[in-house]
Amino acid sequence: MSDYAGLDLGGTAIKHGVVDRTGAVLAQGATATPPGGRDAILQTLAGIVQEYCRAFTLEAVGLGTAGAVDFESGTILGHSPNIAGWGNTPVRAELHRRLRLPVAVDNDANCMALAELHAGAGQGCRSLFFLTLGTGIGSAVVNDGKLWRGAHSLGGEWGHATIVHDGRPCACGQRGHLEAYASATALVARARELAGRDDPEPADARGVFAAAESGDRAARQAVAETVAYLASGIASAVNLLDPERVILGGGMADAGDEFLNAVETQTRARVHVGLAEHLKIVPAVLGNRAGFIGAALLARTDAGAGPT
Ligand SMILES: [Zn+2]
Repeated sequence: MSDYAGLDLGGTAIKHGVVDRTGAVLAQGATATPPGGRDAILQTLAGIVQEYCRAFTLEAVGLGTAGAVDFESGTILGHSPNIAGWGNTPVRAELHRRLRLPVAVDNDANCMALAELHAGAGQGCRSLFFLTLGTGIGSAVVNDGKLWRGAHSLGGEWGHATIVHDGRPCACGQRGHLEAYASATALVARARELAGRDDPEPADARGVFAAAESGDRAARQAVAETVAYLASGIASAVNLLDPERVILGGGMADAGDEFLNAVETQTRARVHVGLAEHLKIVPAVLGNRAGFIGAALLARTDAGAGPT
């Protein structure tokens, strides 16, 4: 049997599993991300795979991780803001050394997009634009049936597209980026700002959507602004890419049909002539399993030993 282990490393948890060639999940689990930096994380990741090796014959291992990744070498680029001590880690070589299995590494949004392409909301498509709306905004581009990474593995980062010149500060250190206007974090901050309250309510994006639904004016306005900014950002990407589908993942994509329909309607109104009739925005279907499923599918096609 040809099975693949997938690992999805985030700031608080590692989601993981084993999938077959088609992306069907054979086993899955979650483990807390250990504090203590690089060695502790590598040891935990290797331990998860070794445990799966007792029950499965694994062909290769894939890892999706927060932060920018040099795909060719499987090395984390620069520092990783969400995972202390993870920056500049040669993950592919380190995991291969520990496991003696071929390894592939990419950023988490690319892995999620790959999972949706092969086993989720993008099945049958040759081109996709994928956005994951959570604490930040991750994104990925599929072109001609494959992930498009750009010349230095850094392409497709639409969360840091400028939508307001000199606008709100973004977590990346620059200003006016889509992430600063349309992430869950931005929605919550804006709802509180409009309410003019110091109290910590609503606590999360789900709370803002619930308050908007029950008629809270500040929450309604915050959601409306978020929809408008998000539609502006998506429309610009659609003008560039003309994708078959736009897939929205992450916690905010679970806000319901009303939110998604509003985003689609406003995006349609903003795209360039001729694109409106083809626009199709759909929610991701694999939820928080997309990261490890995509990492395993990446292992199927791109795993190797890495530089030695
Ligand atoms: Zn930014």
